[in-house]
Amino acid sequence: MKYNWSIIGHEKQLAQIENDISSGNLAHAYLLAGPNSVGKNTVARKLAGILQCENDFCHSCNACLQVEKGCHVDTVVFEDNGESIKIEEVRRIMERLNMTRQAQYKILLIQSLERMRTEAANSFLKMLEEPPERTIFIMTTDNVRVILPTILSRVRVVKFNSVSNSYLRDKLKQLYPKSEAETIETVSLLSLGKTGKAVHLMEHPDSLANYLKTYHDIQNFLAYRSVSERFSYIEEMLEDPLRIETFMNILTHVLRSKMLEPGRQGGGKIYAKALSKIDEAAMLLRQNINVRLVLENLMLQI
Ligand SMILES: [Zn+2]
Repeated sequence: MKYNWSIIGHEKQLAQIENDISSGNLAHAYLLAGPNSVGKNTVARKLAGILQCENDFCHSCNACLQVEKGCHVDTVVFEDNGESIKIEEVRRIMERLNMTRQAQYKILLIQSLERMRTEAANSFLKMLEEPPERTIFIMTTDNVRVILPTILSRVRVVKFNSVSNSYLRDKLKQLYPKSEAETIETVSLLSLGKTGKAVHLMEHPDSLANYLKTYHDIQNFLAYRSVSERFSYIEEMLEDPLRIETFMNILTHVLRSKMLEPGRQGGGKIYAKALSKIDEAAMLLRQNINVRLVLENLMLQI
């Protein structure tokens, strides 16, 4: 690699992006697509840093530091705040960017592009068709299936995947040589091959403790027989929406590892079905459908 990305995995994707830069074949719009928490937003931010830094991404000049902190005047981040993306806001920021003349590029980082509704996306299409000079869109999505085909045809899609457990464990060992083997083992198991999640858990012990607690909760939860016990667990979860994502992730993990247990035979199918129900529920949750209803339905089906 030419640049110091400090990212676990995704070598092929990063090499592709580097090649676009070095061959002068940079697209004016990138869409980094793949599962959540594999590090797409981190890659997006680092790509912005590479483009804005004049010293091959030195990590120490003003441009590098400002992009990293999110305060670079010509690099605007639309963070995923859970709300839909308003096209007027994109337009307003583009206009402002056009008035400054400081950096190499004007960069718009748009997280979770699926937050853009159809009407906004149609207006956005025009911006993609006639991009102002030196303007680069770097966008991410967890759900490329809901992005309009007309948008997809005007962006360069880079697909990201999760990595294997053993790969992740090896990388974490290299990255955190002082960490205990047990911590690394737990993190590589719980992060489901999602490198961004793994790094987050390694660097935030309280998140890891939370994750572990949910993991044990779920083991208990699956042993609950009665619907009312399960529903009251949901009730508890609804008070803290952040727990829901963790819950869904770890539930996926637990069911997947149960599916792979030796001697499962006929059980495999049941777990595969439960996993597809979880995927379905996760999709509904992203669409802001009644959260309680989605979770209760899910509980009745696993
Ligand atoms: Zn720099």
